[in-house]
Amino acid sequence: MMMQPDRLDRFFPITYPNGATVSRFAKPCPHCQQLVKASAMEGVAILLQDKVFVLADAECPQCQHRFVVKCVIDAYKRVFPVQLPVFLYRWMLQWGARRQLKLFRQQPEWQRARQLVEAMDPEQVKNAVQQLSSRLLSDSSEVEKSPDIVGSFQSQPIYAWLRHDGRTLVFDHAAAGSDAQFQLKEGEVLFDGRLVYRQLLPEQA
Ligand SMILES: [Zn+2]
Repeated sequence: MMMQPDRLDRFFPITYPNGATVSRFAKPCPHCQQLVKASAMEGVAILLQDKVFVLADAECPQCQHRFVVKCVIDAYKRVFPVQLPVFLYRWMLQWGARRQLKLFRQQPEWQRARQLVEAMDPEQVKNAVQQLSSRLLSDSSEVEKSPDIVGSFQSQPIYAWLRHDGRTLVFDHAAAGSDAQFQLKEGEVLFDGRLVYRQLLPEQA
């Protein structure tokens, strides 16, 4: 799934897994209350699991007021505002779109992430995102994988160790739940969204 911003109305109609379709999208201008249509917005609307996530810049045709649209539309066409800072929301959408991660699958997890973020100040959020990014590793050619396979999980091989960015990681356990990224302990890295590796300290590696 791509995260290429475009005129927002070009993303619609979007059909949910349950067959419901959302064909239009509009938000009232916070300045003059005029309804601003998706054709006056630039951004992305993507379906992740069973919800449509919208992030866009809007310009009111009536008063030229510019505002950011951050919301989630469920399969019943209920629209929920997203309280996350834009950079974090964008990052989560990219992450979700790229990895199809299960973060968005269940509302409680989304809520929990949001609560965590709202309780932090922006500096803390930035640090948390950096920390989280360094603890989530995607499978790519940049990751050196051990020739030793120690098993398989979800029909994929489990590599005994990984090397990436100067770090050596050894396999610890398979990630059972969809919220594995929230359960990582100190020194643990989630690889490919499903395997937890432990980082070796330099003297062990
Ligand atoms: Zn306006």
